[in-house]
Amino acid sequence: MSIQTVNPANNKIIRSFEEMTEDQIEKAVEKASGTYESWKQTDFKIRADILHKVAGLLRDKQDMLARMITLEMGKLLVHAEGEIKLSAEIFDYYASNAESFLADKVLHPTHGHALIRHAPIGVLLGVEPWNFPFYQVARFAAPNIMIGNTILLKHASIVPQCGVAIEEIFKEAGAPDGLYTNLLISGHRATALVADKRIKGVSLTGSEEAGASVASEAGKHLKKSVLELGGSDAFIVLDDADIDKTVKWAVTGRINNNGQCCVASKRFIVLESVADVFLEKFKAKLSQLIVGDPMGATTQLGPMSSETAAEQIATQVQKAVDGGATILLGGKRLKREGAFMEPTIIANMLPENPVYYEELFGPVATFFRVENEKAAIVLANDSPYGLGCSVFTQDIERGKRVADKIDAGMVFINHPTWTQADLPFGGTKRSGYGRELSELGINEFVNKKLIRISELSDPF
Ligand code: NAP
Repeated sequence: MSIQTVNPANNKIIRSFEEMTEDQIEKAVEKASGTYESWKQTDFKIRADILHKVAGLLRDKQDMLARMITLEMGKLLVHAEGEIKLSAEIFDYYASNAESFLADKVLHPTHGHALIRHAPIGVLLGVEPWNFPFYQVARFAAPNIMIGNTILLKHASIVPQCGVAIEEIFKEAGAPDGLYTNLLISGHRATALVADKRIKGVSLTGSEEAGASVASEAGKHLKKSVLELGGSDAFIVLDDADIDKTVKWAVTGRINNNGQCCVASKRFIVLESVADVFLEKFKAKLSQLIVGDPMGATTQLGPMSSETAAEQIATQVQKAVDGGATILLGGKRLKREGAFMEPTIIANMLPENPVYYEELFGPVATFFRVENEKAAIVLANDSPYGLGCSVFTQDIERGKRVADKIDAGMVFINHPTWTQADLPFGGTKRSGYGRELSELGINEFVNKKLIRISELSDPF
């Protein structure tokens, strides 16, 4: 696979990169492994100083980095700026809180004394996607660097400049060589690396196929893995929801990041009594979106991340229609240069439709009307995925009761599923396992070591 920056707003090739040779990879792994031996002995203050500097550099370079994101994967510039801010918050958050998260945990056994000490495990491999090129890296790298692990990072092949820029920021922040290393390699070679004895764990955010590839290799070599995979979040509208405000969130939930979020609202499940009014307003708002150059200040929907991604979603929509679905809005590629897809709404999706259980990774909403709350829950759970879900209602207790019955890693009431440094992120079912962010995220690649203190006279 080629590693290239291709501007998806016009499909022009901007820059190509050479893949690393086997020799360069070997040197990178050896360096990360050597640095681990010294890094694991540094104190929290040294680690935190570097991460706070990374956060500061992200903020100083925000304009340049945001433009780089938009150029490489087509996110609206304003959202790219937001991503850099969020990434800086994540670095600061772990720099400030890791020491307390990782403090010894005193146990109270039936006799004697014991504690849990949190120890690092070694070199970790991160495999990250293009859809949030800085945020995805931040939420993996920041906690693990604070633990004392070192990082090899294989970024998506369509965002090579972002991948290189993150490594340069670490260097500028004073990180020792080998603490954070960007690997310019294909996915296939990343999987092969999992077998290397010096690599102790792997975290992948991306597709099920890529996740299964690295996780099976990790399993074969008895290593820990964390997977953050796809999603098909339900957006449930109950009959007491404030429809105008709910529609505003429905549009944001579907088209944020040009429709390419794992936690985008993808399946809109609306109770019959409010379905017509919801649909009319949702359709009107989606059809009025200003589609265009993601660098433009007034643009509301940009291109897909690549020509391949745009072709894939257009093909899925056609497959859904061939399988009996109805298009209520859009449904086609836009007739202009670049990887653009029309905002689209599909209805009449039945379980026998070949697309019913697929993730729609673009500005394409599926719309369902259901008789009552119980039917909404059954439909929401009828998915191989279990990442996020949102429930809209004016009755918070009712929202919580619905949340209890949803099979997902995250349920948001009156908001599309979203993220922040101090809230855990992750899914269940085919959306993966493990958690990132918050205190949970820092506990994934840690040796929770039991230290037991006994009197010499204690019984066996
Ligand atoms: P992808 O093709 O799986 O790519 C993700 C990363 O995996 C890239 O770095 C890619 O490298 C690498 N990769 C691909 N095939 C691989 C293999 N066989 N072995 C090892 N690594 C491999 O996914 P994508 O299309 O970029 O991203 C979209 C998917 O990610 C969606 O399903 C989305 O929902 C999911 N996602 C999930 C989360 C979450 O937190 N749960 C967040 C964001 C995205 P190359 O680019 O070189 O192929």
